[in-house]
Amino acid sequence: MKGALPGAYPPMVLGHEIAGQIATVGKNVNRVQVGDRVTVDSVVGCGKCELCKQSRSQFCPNGYELGINRDGACQDYLIVPERNVYRIPDSISFEEAAVLDIEVWNSVRKCGIQPKDRVLILGAGPIGMIASQLTRILGAGHITLSDSIQDRLRIARDLKLADAYESAPLNDASTDYSSVPYDVILDCAGTSASTQYALRAVRPCGRVLLYGVHEEAIDSLDINQIVLKDLVVYGALCDRNGWEDVVELAASGALDLKSLITHRFPIENGAQAYDAVRNRSQGLIKAVLLL
Ligand SMILES: [Zn+2]
Repeated sequence: MKGALPGAYPPMVLGHEIAGQIATVGKNVNRVQVGDRVTVDSVVGCGKCELCKQSRSQFCPNGYELGINRDGACQDYLIVPERNVYRIPDSISFEEAAVLDIEVWNSVRKCGIQPKDRVLILGAGPIGMIASQLTRILGAGHITLSDSIQDRLRIARDLKLADAYESAPLNDASTDYSSVPYDVILDCAGTSASTQYALRAVRPCGRVLLYGVHEEAIDSLDINQIVLKDLVVYGALCDRNGWEDVVELAASGALDLKSLITHRFPIENGAQAYDAVRNRSQGLIKAVLLL
């Protein structure tokens, strides 16, 4: 909406986190049938190139993403290849199925969380709250969730999403982090301050995941933090596999998405919904649009 995401240009029907019901199928479709409830991978590749065969359709030269550079889900009907839909059990609502966040699952998994790991998550928005749960599922030893918005930390604390909560002084470059050597830091905030903080606060040989999409370039990033601390830094435009895993986690209740959906809007009030998300309305974590 702000034009910060490369390749996304209005006018565009929005909606890239999608769930729905199969209305009709093509004659060669055999994975799903009419009436099936499904979640949808919004990243559509050609299905034939090497990248697609490696589940990396996000980099397919002939691919597109629904709601980003092709009309998305805020409409009555959507046509997608059968390989992009995944059946959901009755125990998962459409709302939950729309916010499964495969990217978070694959990004966090990539960090190779170990049982002894101390993990710091920057940003207690919906992504950070999901990342926190997944980090625990993956067996982290200790999880700290951090945000400057007290309201979000309170909600996270109420939901018991982490072991510790911290109101992060992201802009305080003088803070000494040597006493809390984090093994892994997940930057789910995507600001200049959060990224610099992540590189500073992680221990030598630690791992940093950069999840948040930056709205602008960082002017003065100290790359020597990576070089001289021998860090591993991960990006976040992840492979598209693992949908069955995350469906299972949500179905079993291990991943609580229900509590994160705080606001619901009929599609007719779509503009109001986007405003609420953009303005971070009081208590809003995840909003869903209902058709
Ligand atoms: Zn392809």
